[in-house]
Amino acid sequence: MTVDVHLFCVGHCRNRAWLVESGSWFEDLHLPAMAALIRHPKAGLVLFDTGYGAPLARAGSLAARLYRRILPFQVRAEDAIPVHLRALGVGLSEIATIFLSHFHPDHIGSLREMPAAPILHSRAGLEALGKLTGPQRARAAFFPELLPADFAARARAIEELAMVELDETWRPFTAGYDVAGDGSIVAIALPGHALGQYGLLCRKGENRWVFLVADAAWTRRNISDLALPGWPAGALIGDPAAFRATLKKLHEFQRRRPDVPLIPSHCEASIAAYQHEQ
Ligand SMILES: [Zn+2]
Repeated sequence: MTVDVHLFCVGHCRNRAWLVESGSWFEDLHLPAMAALIRHPKAGLVLFDTGYGAPLARAGSLAARLYRRILPFQVRAEDAIPVHLRALGVGLSEIATIFLSHFHPDHIGSLREMPAAPILHSRAGLEALGKLTGPQRARAAFFPELLPADFAARARAIEELAMVELDETWRPFTAGYDVAGDGSIVAIALPGHALGQYGLLCRKGENRWVFLVADAAWTRRNISDLALPGWPAGALIGDPAAFRATLKKLHEFQRRRPDVPLIPSHCEASIAAYQHEQ
């Protein structure tokens, strides 16, 4: 089967470009927080991430307040996730699955506003985050207050899905997890940026795919030129060696498969190019 993938942005953060790309000293970058609505004919509606949101704006812990000070964000009324979904003809209660690429606040910032749906996430990632001490947790930008009160009852582990072997056309990626049960939505591990990060490979048609790579890169230049982020974005990377290894894999994959758009969650140019083609 094939899926429709609709991208939209739930708020944005504005930063100097050198924060996310080495060598871009004087430019300002507009960093949207992307979410995606994926329509599968049988599995229903899958929401990829939730962007920023009111729950993050209200979060009262010291760590969350510090995060907002360092990386200030805005969510205009028209960018709130319920507004985007309504424009797509979708009510919040119609979402069948929420897929979390990772637990950073700009990806789970609206999660508390999303009722009922099962929440697919990396259990290994969440367990590792749960073992961190307070300061380590703050450095990992993990704010448990952003998880809904019924998270445990709704939680589903990506690692418990069936594995899909990827043929040689997907090298250097070799396997993923089957989100919809028919190989049309495949979760791919993208370690390094954050604990338990996964991207989604989505089949849109015969030989038509899109790869949502979450924060494995911030901009497409990170992938094409292997331009690494500076401080403080670089300092937020959980495991720099794994981050570089994942970025190299994406670089290699893009070279082999230029037909597959790679969409980093904060790359305005990649998101706009994809939206333009739809
Ligand atoms: Zn992140």
